Amino acid sequence: MRRPLVAGNWKMNGSLESVRSLLDGIKAGVGAVTNAEVAVCPTAIFIPEAQQRLSGTEIAWGGQDLSTETSGAYTGEVAASMLNDFACKYVIVGHSERRTYHNESDDLVAKKFATARAAGLAPILCVGETLEERESGVTNEVVARQLNAVIELEGVAALADGVIAYEPVWAIGTGKTATPEQAQEVHAFIRSLVAEKSAEVAEGVRILYGGSMKPGNAKELIGKADIDGGLIGGASLAAEDFLGICTAAN
Ligand code: PEP
Repeated sequence: MRRPLVAGNWKMNGSLESVRSLLDGIKAGVGAVTNAEVAVCPTAIFIPEAQQRLSGTEIAWGGQDLSTETSGAYTGEVAASMLNDFACKYVIVGHSERRTYHNESDDLVAKKFATARAAGLAPILCVGETLEERESGVTNEVVARQLNAVIELEGVAALADGVIAYEPVWAIGTGKTATPEQAQEVHAFIRSLVAEKSAEVAEGVRILYGGSMKPGNAKELIGKADIDGGLIGGASLAAEDFLGICTAAN
């Protein structure tokens, strides 16, 4: 039985004040509403706030990206050891915004997955197709290529140390959600790809859906057999909405 995970990706949002109140709001509400695992990924500079306010609770926190380097002259980058210094459990790798705006290739994302894993962090590997790719009928091909880059580098067993997030790029921040059937189809495909290499890993690995998930559509999405929770952008920035999704994940 896979325990659902609801993870908030706060992206480059918030101020010190708003992040504090969001953390407090989630902390105050979450215990009463969900049995799912809950995590938040603030922008790097606010991770210490998450640690300070969430330590001792059931809520985990993590980063949105990491460097493949361990230290040195890499301006603007964050090392895995730094995420560990602030007790992060998770780190997102290969988010479509990183792939698009920072030209992150499948190979680089696979290396980031490996770097996170080697440091004891649980990578949340994002995969997903653009609208153009969906309309050209290559969704499965794209998702398989993104996933196989990790499997080729690290072996299928490595997936057991992380989480996969299927995030159709056309649904991220657009208000267009994949229907539960559309999402389930790709989730089942991803699980079948993993199962070709290891039935055990396929059975255990959590596959989250991400793309305009909200309290109003979360239950139907997470209710599908292969959807094990959500990676939430916009709706994770308001405690009430995020808690609504956590409730739906019960
Ligand atoms: C995301 O960016 O991971 C995401 C799912 O965003 P949104 O929920 O805003 O579509």
